[in-house]
Amino acid sequence: MTLRRRVVVIGAGAGGLAAASDLAHAGLDVIVLDRSACEGGKMRQVETKGALVDAGPTVFTMRWVFDALFATGGQVFGDALKMTPASVLARHAWRDGSRLDLHADVEASADAIGVFAGLREAGAYRQFIAECQDIHATLKDSFMSAQKPSPLGLVLRVGDLQAMWRTRPFETYWSRLRKRFSDPRLRQLFGRYTTYVGSSPFRAPATLMLIAHVEQDGVWMLDGGMRALAAAVRQLAEAGGAEFRFNAEAERILVSGGEVRGVQLRSGEEIPAQAVVFNGDASALATGLLGGGVRGVTREIPRHQRSLSATTWCASARTSGMPLAYHNVFFSDDYEGEFSAVFRQRTISSRPTVYVCAQDRRHGTFTGGPERLLLLVNAPPDGDIGAAGTREQDLVNKRVLEHLAACGLSLDADLTGAVTTTPEGFNDLFPATGGALYGQANHGPMASFSRPGSKTGIRGLYLAGGSVHPGPGVPMATLSGRLAAARLLSELPRGPAS
Ligand SMILES: Cc1cc2nc3c(=O)[nH]c(=O)nc-3n(C[C@H](O)[C@H](O)[C@H](O)COP(=O)(O)OP(=O)(O)OC[C@H]3O[C@@H](n4cnc5c(N)ncnc54)[C@H](O)[C@@H]3O)c2cc1C
Repeated sequence: MTLRRRVVVIGAGAGGLAAASDLAHAGLDVIVLDRSACEGGKMRQVETKGALVDAGPTVFTMRWVFDALFATGGQVFGDALKMTPASVLARHAWRDGSRLDLHADVEASADAIGVFAGLREAGAYRQFIAECQDIHATLKDSFMSAQKPSPLGLVLRVGDLQAMWRTRPFETYWSRLRKRFSDPRLRQLFGRYTTYVGSSPFRAPATLMLIAHVEQDGVWMLDGGMRALAAAVRQLAEAGGAEFRFNAEAERILVSGGEVRGVQLRSGEEIPAQAVVFNGDASALATGLLGGGVRGVTREIPRHQRSLSATTWCASARTSGMPLAYHNVFFSDDYEGEFSAVFRQRTISSRPTVYVCAQDRRHGTFTGGPERLLLLVNAPPDGDIGAAGTREQDLVNKRVLEHLAACGLSLDADLTGAVTTTPEGFNDLFPATGGALYGQANHGPMASFSRPGSKTGIRGLYLAGGSVHPGPGVPMATLSGRLAAARLLSELPRGPAS
């Protein structure tokens, strides 16, 4: 009898799940380990007042990534998960009482912007959307879906200098928005997309405008929330034969002769393997959390280069004052100050922008009563150097509710009963991050190239997840898992394990 070649995937986040599925369907013996109790990583749910609330990602985009993943596993994504396209992408509110919905339909948004800020701004919006689409078209296959290129490699891959130039890596996102839009509220609204990768619009390159296209291309609401997506990909991997083990923390990646030999669990158990895909944050390898054999295989991200963290609240509460959409954003009146507070003064702004996901507002069937809410504000990624005290946290809670009320939304409960996750909590859940949720911040023209790729300097060790190329977000981390699997399959020696 011959042994199948074995791969251990450490982490059942989006990247680990996708890698596990592809590797299992390619015929490898796959064991997935996760230190937590279930699959999903940041796609987690928490219980509050008997209700399960999505506590991590809520905006589901780039469906094509999952269509392709499931097709590789011989299944149809749309059969595995029920989902509804969102006609309103997000509802936005400001303290001066102004409101604006962004729609899936570009012309509906242009009309709404025309009423909101005038015809000139509606025209600017159409141009903005076209520019975002152009950048996305240039980088989708050459960067997002492909193994990590060097800057020169990317230019060669794209093969069109003008298209490359139009991706605007040397201009900041904010300066591009200033040229496009006169209305500061629209700059804020479209500037917020850089926070999807944990970055400030004042320091990120205009290239990140492609995120606006990603959202315009479609946002879906999933039955069962984002946890259902994680469960579906786990089932896909299991259908290929992958085995999942939870509450199983990998303590050491075993290496000898410059080659991976297996994984040692915290329990002391050793699992021999020909290859390992590491789906934790790449910083964990740099800092030696997975043992001396792999220490330094990635670069430790200096604190000032870390991406945003957050403080989140999962609550069940009655709301009043304004009707919520599924995704809602309540903007601060000092956007630059908000990012300066987080990235420079290392504190939550005194009047932060608040994102609210109203998870029962899906099919227009919400009839009132307490509803499931996720509230989120940006926070500094310093969860490894001490937690906010109770008084400080109470102050943040109070400010969040005051800000929502000033924008027109009231909650019938304070936030003390909510399940709160601070940067310190995120650092505990995702070791070596300091609570940074998206790896390295995309600040400056070269940041996108400084994430590690799927391949490491150790034979048999591959990386997947939001801290590696092509970057964070559930679909992007999924792509990274597929890239790790593809690289591994192309490099693993043929034939049975010895
Ligand atoms: C509050 C919040 C909101 C977000 N909003 C969105 C959104 O709306 N849309 C979107 O697309 N993205 C969003 N994101 C980002 C998105 O969730 C992440 O980029 C993505 O899920 C990361 O996936 P990953 O593959 O890096 O794995 P992770 O989710 O980071 O999971 C890694 C897994 O590895 C495990 N692990 C780590 N070390 C070990 C070890 N030594 N042994 C065993 N297991 C280990 C961990 O337990 C974890 O389960 C959000 C994230 C957060 C936190």
